[in-house]
Amino acid sequence: MLQRRAFIRRAAAMAAVLGLDPVRLLRADAPLPLSNAGFNGTGRFREGHMLSTWYHGMVSNEEGWKQMQAGGTALDAVVEGTALVESDATGTSVGLGGRPDRTGRVTLDACVMGPQGDAGGVCFLEDIEHPVKVARAVMEETPHVLLAGDGARDFALAQGFEPRNLLTPESKTAWEDWKKSAEYKPIINVENHDTIGMIAQDLDGNLAGACTTSGLAYKLRGRVGDSPIIGAGLFVDNEIGACTATGLGEAVMKTLGSFLVVELIRQGRSPQQACEEAVDRIMRKMPVKDLQVGYLAMDTKGRSGSFAIHKGFNYARTIAGQTEMIDAAYRS
Ligand code: ASP
Repeated sequence: MLQRRAFIRRAAAMAAVLGLDPVRLLRADAPLPLSNAGFNGTGRFREGHMLSTWYHGMVSNEEGWKQMQAGGTALDAVVEGTALVESDATGTSVGLGGRPDRTGRVTLDACVMGPQGDAGGVCFLEDIEHPVKVARAVMEETPHVLLAGDGARDFALAQGFEPRNLLTPESKTAWEDWKKSAEYKPIINVENHDTIGMIAQDLDGNLAGACTTSGLAYKLRGRVGDSPIIGAGLFVDNEIGACTATGLGEAVMKTLGSFLVVELIRQGRSPQQACEEAVDRIMRKMPVKDLQVGYLAMDTKGRSGSFAIHKGFNYARTIAGQTEMIDAAYRS
């Protein structure tokens, strides 16, 4: 995880470069009021609600709000919002500038889900700056859900995506430094998870989500994490709610975490209770000293929740265009 102040500087710089409104940093202990008007008498929230992992989520939410203001759907908001983070070369865990695998190649994972229960994803994708947009194309242009590796790359090129070298000089230097002292194992610790996962409810009350990452730094070649796996890194059910995950993908995959959170909401838990129960499920089943997982969830009524195994997970929440950064509660 990058340091807090570095994150703020980077998000603010990105916002300036992209011409976004200055991002509002509010205190986490000052929750935004939910106005009754947003429910429109249906029990479904309709003021625009977005949750995105980590500090880069502020920029994603600002873009998502712009999309909604221009008539865009929740799906437009999450795809365009997360795509901005994919293009940020200073981010080391998503898209351009993402840390490579141990062979020096950047491989990307992403998925999206829309309100119709529709889903698309790509994994082990190389040379394409916007895996989240390719995931959307898989969902909208093919009868499939997940394309991998060269097949995903071929599909992206056929869709008109331009190939690009995603290994920046900084990432290459960091990888070369890592090689000098590397033990033969991927770096897996609580400081190394910065995937962007974003879930949103638009002004019509519909839900969508997106998740995109370069995965663990210096992972084994071919390793795919939770982020492109529907139900693991992301799950959306337009009748119930949405969830996304960040952290050690293997732990999330073994418990199908995002699906679990949404199913717990279906059973009557609040988003907060559901995130806590999903974290506890991991903690009961595996040692968690050296791994971090954080969940972020919303329901259709405008309620949100988040929870992590350890301290350090934070996220951006936007309601009706107002954004705040919140430190997630944690178990240990
Ligand atoms: N979940 C991602 C993965 O395991 C990592 C992250 O959240 O940064 O690939």
